[in-house]
Amino acid sequence: MALLDIRNLSIDIETAQGKIRVIDKASLNIVAGSIHGLIGESGSGKTLIAKAILGLHNNNWTVTADRMYLGKTDLTKLSDKERRQILGKEISMIFQEPSSYLDPSQTIRTQIKSVLPKKTWNLRLRRILGKIKRINVQSSRLQIKELLHKVGVQDDKEILNCYPHQLSEGVCQKIMIAMAIANNPSLIIADEPTTSMESSTQSQIFRLLYKLNQLNNTTLLILSNNFANTSNLSDYMTLIYCGQTVETGSHKQLMTSAMHPYTQAMLKTIISNDKMHEHKSELYTLPGNIPSSNQLPIGCRLGPRCPKAQRICVTNPTVTTKKGHSFRCHYPISLS
Ligand code: SF4
Repeated sequence: MALLDIRNLSIDIETAQGKIRVIDKASLNIVAGSIHGLIGESGSGKTLIAKAILGLHNNNWTVTADRMYLGKTDLTKLSDKERRQILGKEISMIFQEPSSYLDPSQTIRTQIKSVLPKKTWNLRLRRILGKIKRINVQSSRLQIKELLHKVGVQDDKEILNCYPHQLSEGVCQKIMIAMAIANNPSLIIADEPTTSMESSTQSQIFRLLYKLNQLNNTTLLILSNNFANTSNLSDYMTLIYCGQTVETGSHKQLMTSAMHPYTQAMLKTIISNDKMHEHKSELYTLPGNIPSSNQLPIGCRLGPRCPKAQRICVTNPTVTTKKGHSFRCHYPISLS
């Protein structure tokens, strides 16, 4: 069953040069309890989609979608304010560079405490229990400790009195994950959760996210530009290029029968440990660069970089779907 169902989401941004369609009919179908990787180069629009889901967009954005449901809630019918209210309860976000998202002027204890679910106590009960404040403090201490242990932070006493700048990026990210799971949300969006971290810390964070999914059945949407790492973790993947979602499928479908030239190119970038690589041999990359948002090609936006492009590619390809595997290309690889 789909926890998040987005169809034909478009985002237009008003700029000094005119309106720019930064997200062009993107679709995303996230199965409840799964790990879904949204993979694309930096600047491909992953974060914009996350912001649109959360209602965190600016005044110069126009967001339209044929369908945008979180469970049974139609997100298009909620005001931005109502949408933001589900942030933290139904959906949590883990940002890249956690130290810049944590408040530098507050201790970790204060920051975690601020996101703990608020208990509504009966007024009469409050009067009867004169020591309620002490009970609350004890219970929040316990909750904070439990949260930190869940994300693998054992020396909680030391860390709780620290400020973000006194901690490593890896520990800050664990704190952000602890804050993200505090309200037991049904969906966690992790935006490049391991950017600028050492590879050993990256593996720790990925293991932690995997554990959360397996133990709590939390649905994870991982936004990443690292195809190799994210594909190892994901049950499903969606590839996005320049604001257009180009291919979606299960891990097996994309790893064994990718149809879109962009997915094929991503697959070629995975360095296999089984193969010998000559010293200083070149690794595969697509020719060219991702175009800037005010110079987007018409039709299929991969056109100028695509090895299979033809004249017809200046028109937008329609989406083909077979057994849950969707792709948007005039000349899909395995069919040509
Ligand atoms: S539609 Fe054309 S340009 Fe786009 S990926 Fe397919 S072949 Fe390449």
